[in-house]
Amino acid sequence: MKHLGVIGEPGKKSLSPVFQQAAIDALGLDLVYEAWPTPPEALRARVTGLRAPDVLGANVTIPHKEAVIPLLDEVDALSRRVGAVNTILNRGGRLSGSNTDVEGFLRALREDAAFEPAGCRAVIAGAGGAARAVVVALLDAGATSISVIARTPARAERLLGDVGRDATASLSAPGDSLDAWREAVASADLLVNCTPLGTSGTADEGRSPVPAEVIRPEMLVYDLVYRPAETALLRQARACGARTLGGLPMLVYQGAASFKTWTGRDAPVAVMRAAAEGVLRGEEGR
Ligand code: NAP
Repeated sequence: MKHLGVIGEPGKKSLSPVFQQAAIDALGLDLVYEAWPTPPEALRARVTGLRAPDVLGANVTIPHKEAVIPLLDEVDALSRRVGAVNTILNRGGRLSGSNTDVEGFLRALREDAAFEPAGCRAVIAGAGGAARAVVVALLDAGATSISVIARTPARAERLLGDVGRDATASLSAPGDSLDAWREAVASADLLVNCTPLGTSGTADEGRSPVPAEVIRPEMLVYDLVYRPAETALLRQARACGARTLGGLPMLVYQGAASFKTWTGRDAPVAVMRAAAEGVLRGEEGR
């Protein structure tokens, strides 16, 4: 039996072990997928451990997606552009890194919301790792304009400077004020939350990153947060008649792409999604 696992922050409960194991079991593979909580000071040793013959690979999540890059033998071009790796494959002791968040984000947008990003005008809340993957995804998919609004505007400017250097799309980082939101959203057809605001079990539960009055019914509002299924932002959006998409489909699709990287097999996404939804329903029922 070979091992897979998710390398993340101790104390943060990842859904990946549940839905990845459900996929493994559905295909009858001789694999076990585990949680590998890892504090920053133990990351190097954890990554060294991935070179063992009985380890097939790993997922990497907050807060290690950037820090893991220099510890790998090779990192693909997309991960370099995003500046983050979320999937590691062990091939005979050599570790290669890739990023499946970009694919997961776009697949959910197209398949679950029937939204084609080519030519779209997008507004992104937040400028961290997830926002970097989302901006790269939207640029590659042909978005016409992208505004990144973050409480630390310098981080948004740095993000656009890093990933948007050769872009033909119009890019802006206008700062987190009501006027900036009004102006950015006035012509937008897609709004994506890439901050953790609204996550259940945190001090920001029930908070939305977006002033409610700027949401327009013509927009698709996409929240990367998946706990709870309906965040404050999605509630606001639904109330004003906008279409909504939560973060769970992206989570499942990035996991499905990782699964394919490790096993070469198409992941049973319906099985994965049902397993993840089962956990979330249980948590919300508590
Ligand atoms: P990150 O790198 O820590 O970035 C978080 C961003 O949100 C930063 O711009 C940060 O601003 C901002 N932020 C944090 N707290 C805030 C607050 N109270 N008010 C306003 N802005 C705030 O995190 P990440 O990796 O990008 O992840 C962001 C969220 O996306 C998380 O909830 C994560 O679970 C979710 N996510 C979901 C998926 C999925 O598959 N559905 C995939 C990836 C990430 P500062 O720079 O000023 O701190």
